[in-house]
Order: sequence, then structure tokens, then C-alpha cells
Amino acid sequence: MTVQAQTHTFQADTKRLLHLMVHSLYTDKEIFLRELISNASDALDKMRIEALRQPPLLKDGETLEIRIDTDPQARTLSIRDNGIGMTRDELVSHIGTIAKSGTRELMQRLKENSEGHSASELIGQFGVGFYSAFMVASKVTITTRRAGEDTATRWESAGEGEYTLEDTHRDAYGTTVTLDLLPIDSEGGIEDFTDQWVLSRIVKRYSDFVTFPIILKVEREEVEKDEQGQPIPDGKKTTVVEDKTLNSMKPIWTRSDVTDEEYAEFYKHISHDWADPMKTMRFRAEGRIEYQTLLFIPSQAQGNLNYHGSEFGLQLYVRRVMIMERCEELLPRYLRFVKGIVDSADLPLNISRQRLQEDRYINQIRKWITRKTLDTLGDIQRDDAEQYLKFWEPFGSVLKEGVADADYKDKILGLLLFASSHDPANLTTLEAYVQRMKSDQKEIFYITGESRNVVEHSPHLEAFKAKDYEVLYLVAPVDEFLVQYVFEFQGKRLKSVGKGAVDLGDENEQKAAADKLQTLQEQFKGVFEFLKEKLDDHIKEVRLSNRLTSSPVCLVGAENDYSPQLARLLQKGDLPKQKRIMELNPDHTIVTKLKERFEKDPTDTLLSEYAELLLGYGLLAEGSPIPNPVRYNQVLANLMTRTL
Ligand code: ADP
Repeated sequence: MTVQAQTHTFQADTKRLLHLMVHSLYTDKEIFLRELISNASDALDKMRIEALRQPPLLKDGETLEIRIDTDPQARTLSIRDNGIGMTRDELVSHIGTIAKSGTRELMQRLKENSEGHSASELIGQFGVGFYSAFMVASKVTITTRRAGEDTATRWESAGEGEYTLEDTHRDAYGTTVTLDLLPIDSEGGIEDFTDQWVLSRIVKRYSDFVTFPIILKVEREEVEKDEQGQPIPDGKKTTVVEDKTLNSMKPIWTRSDVTDEEYAEFYKHISHDWADPMKTMRFRAEGRIEYQTLLFIPSQAQGNLNYHGSEFGLQLYVRRVMIMERCEELLPRYLRFVKGIVDSADLPLNISRQRLQEDRYINQIRKWITRKTLDTLGDIQRDDAEQYLKFWEPFGSVLKEGVADADYKDKILGLLLFASSHDPANLTTLEAYVQRMKSDQKEIFYITGESRNVVEHSPHLEAFKAKDYEVLYLVAPVDEFLVQYVFEFQGKRLKSVGKGAVDLGDENEQKAAADKLQTLQEQFKGVFEFLKEKLDDHIKEVRLSNRLTSSPVCLVGAENDYSPQLARLLQKGDLPKQKRIMELNPDHTIVTKLKERFEKDPTDTLLSEYAELLLGYGLLAEGSPIPNPVRYNQVLANLMTRTL
């Protein structure tokens, strides 16, 4: 049966990305080999894991390996593996589209490139390794057969917008990627990638630790030897072809003399990141449970860490053999940015997911890894604030989720950074906040909201600013979640400035303020009742405020109410409708005049328009939407018409 080759076009984004890649990665073209070997090695890992469950997938005596074949005359190079292979559909979805969610974002960032990242770093973040082949090849051909399937598929492309697909034959399971190499151009970074010394060097440099043999067929001249085994001068020369394994295959975590560069290459191999890791952590446990770990904190986020379905986990090895590519059980979710491996001496090779989840031993390893990672972060924070900030930027909000972990809550609280009213340019720890607390201050004040800019101008802060109390700005979406779990730090209660009553100043000041409000509250009783009735849909109480100094009004919640920020974050309908408390500033002209007007004529029809305007003012000031913007504008226009 022959099936005609079908021509397909790349997704538009893929096309543009390809172009950019090929034309912006001038240096390090040789890394294409690392990428292809990495993919082959992943495919072999998958094959081994699948063969554990379905042994017939591997022939008797078949070893999993990567073979590099070259043809210097034809100028082709192929990387062949007997790994898991791809079905036709997989080939289309993995190679024909860069379907990963981040492509558009990546394109955007490549265009702006504002953060000073190199194109290669950016590309690496989104894992498009295979395409790097087009930096050195005019045509790439993939022949692949998925383990367990009969047919193979051939994919071919010149990297210029189109690829062809056709059914083909392949004797064994696995994948061969063949490159028609571009002409050698040493200035342009294109060496002779058919030369064994060039290939040897590249493999040693980037892929030495790959746990499967990377085999190159090499030709060697052999001179005829005499009986003693000595070469005969002018003897007959024969060409011997032999296999040469280019990598040592020694797992890097079992070696003692590893350089930073080697760690970095290993990290790139397992993470598919192109940037060096920020921190390498290596430790071993001996005794009752025995295992080794090699962990990395990346220097940049890969993909979207906040996407809920995003996969994470560490590679799990049993006595140097990988049995799982992504073992989630080894990491708490809030450390999902950590990459690395665990090699254990005490697990069965075919351990099931089920058993992993229940395994006490795995649990213990996870706890140990968690503690070590948090301690390491603590060290960075203490020793190198600048570095810590670099960590914090991409990963801080993930780490914050950890406050729900009772075992490590305190450690994590110590690691958190927040924006604060103390310093517009820098973040603060809770500890530093507590050290700055005023002598009469009992609570840690915070406000939640959309952004620093919005909360900074919130009327809720006025009294705090006037009396010089520091307020933390909790403006990350995860912060709303955080305050559900964190009630205190070092014995100081966390207190929202937008909820409940506030008592500022020393005892005398507090008493004087309370007395003043109480007396005034009586005088405002009538107008407050009126406002409450008018705004009944939105407001459950109207009272005087000691939060405000310059604004006439703000809206607050009762101690246990959810915040407007939470309402914005959650979908409409997920929360029961909740009325707010309206607080008015008794010293503000608007408020006193409103009272006068009400007392003069409680039936004045304009009063209800003023009530609506006050509500709108309060909502807008805190960054909340107003219930009926059209109506609000009309009322405002009426007011202008009257007063202009
Ligand atoms: P990444 O490896 O970062 O995911 P690539 O573009 O290099 O991105 O590869 C895309 C996908 O194609 C891989 O995730 C894998 O599923 C598949 N793939 C690539 N090479 C091979 C191979 N040699 N064998 C099997 N699958 C492969």
C-alpha cells in the first residue's frame, strides 16, 4: 500500500518562530545536537518505562541506545534511537505545531525582548528544542515508529513553512532524525558535523551523563602487525569500522568531581531549559533510607507555572535507572519550579503510582527535599539579597501557596516578600516589618488589591499614612489565598485595613477617637438611616470612620467578610452576594453638608442622587467596579448641570 505524501503547512506562529530561531541564534549552533540527543534520551526513558509494563516491546538482548550516523559525502547526519517513537498524530502535534500554550507569548517577548534575555534563553523557556535542527540543516527528515505500532511515518521539512508526511517502513521501533547539513561555515558556527572529533567534543560537552550509550560509527586505519603484535612498517593498511561510545554515561550525581558547567548541562538536559540554573543542590541520605538527590532552582520560569494543569515533579531513579520522568510525589506543589532527580536504592523498579502515593519512604524523601530546598532559599535570602529577588520574581507567588502546608508554614513565612508602604522601591519580609512596628502597634496591617498603584491610593490607608503606620500591599492574586491561612506572624495578628474597626495610636488617643465618634454618630443618625435605606442593595451599615483623613467615604467589610479583591478574582456567582459597610468622614465638607441638607429637608429629591455618588466614589476609590456606570454618569452630569 502506498500512501501519497501529504503536504501540510506549519501553524503561522510556528513558522514565524522558526524563522526567528534560525536567524537569531548566531552562536552555539552546535547545541542542536544536545537537543536531538535529549529528545532521543527522553524517548528511550519512556520506552524503558513502558517496557517494564509490556516486556515484549523490547527484543531479547536489545539495548536502548542512541546512534549517530554520518555520511560526509552526502553531508548528512542522523540521530537514531530505539525509543518510544511517535504515531502519525503525535508527530503532527509535537513537531508540526508548537502547540504549547506559550507560543504567542513567546513571540511577543521575542519582539519586545525588553528584559534583556537573549533569544536563546527565551526560546528555551518554551521548549522548542527540535527546531534548533534548522539552524544547521537545509532539510530535516524524521522517520519514526511508535512502540507497539506496525506502520511508521516519515516527516520532512525544509523549515520554511511546509512539511510533508507519509507512511513508511521502519524495521524497529524508534525514531531517526536525519539532517541535510548546511555547508560548513566556521564563522557562522557551522562546523563539520560529520567529523568524529567534532561530534565527540559536542557530546562530551553537553551530553556526557546521558544514561544511554551515544554511539558513533568510526573508521580506523589498521596497519598489518607481525607475530609479536607490532605494526609492520609499510604493512598493509585496512580500514576497520567500529562503534565508539562517545559519552561516559556516568550519572552525574554519582561523581565527585563535577564542574558547575557539567551541572548546568545536566540541568538543561532534564529540564529542557536553555538557561543555567540559579542554584544547584546536591545531597545524599544514608542509613535507614538511602538515596541521592540532585536538585536545581531554575533562573527563569518555564511556561506558565500558574496554569493549574501544568506538570511538575522530579525524575525518579532506582539504582541509576530512571523509572519515572515526573514524580509529583517527591515535591510539594508549591515547589513545582524545582527540577532534578532522586535516585533511590530501596524502591522496586516497577513501583506503581498507587504505591508511590502511599509510600512512607517517598513521603520522607519529599519532606527532606522540602526542608532542604526551603533552607537553601533561606541561605540565598540571607547571603545574597539580589539573587533572592531574582528568584522571587518568577517563583515567589508559587512559594506563597506553601503557607497552607502546616509542617513548613513558619519556614515559608520567613521567606516571603511583600510590597509595603514603607519603601516604594523595595519589598520587605514580615520579620523586617515587625522590627519596624511602632511601639504602640499590635497588629501587622495589610491591604489586598489589584496592584500597588490601586491600593496605594486607597482611602482605607489615609489614617495609617497620617499616623505613619506601615501597611503591607498584598497585590498578588495568591495573596487573597494567603490571608486565609496566615493569621499571625511572630505573635502579631495580621489585620486588613479594609475590615472591621481600626484603633490607631496609644490608649489615650484611641479612647479620645472612640468618644468623638460615639458623640458624632448620634448626630448623624438621621442622615445615616436615610443613606442605608437608599443604598440598601449594596450597604448593610453606615457609620463614621476613623480611617479617613482626606476622602469623604470608603467602603469596608466586617471582620469575616471576603474582600472585594477576592470577589474580583473569583467568578461571579462563586461567592454569596455580600453587602458592604459605608464609612463616612465626619470632618469632610461633603459629609457635613449632606447632613445639613438632609436636616433642612429630608424629602429633598437630590439627596438620593448624592447617596449614589457617594457609593460610586467609595467603589471607584478602592478599584471596584460600580454597579451601573451609565446611571452613575447621568447622576454626575445632573450634578454638573446644576453647579456649572
Ligand atoms: P521538547 O523536547 O522541549 O518538548 P521538542 O520540540 O524538542 O520540544 O520536541 C517536541 C516533542 O516531540 C517532544 O516532547 C517529544 O514528545 C517529541 N519527540 C521529539 N523527538 C523525539 C524522539 N526522538 N522520539 C520520540 N518523540 C520525540
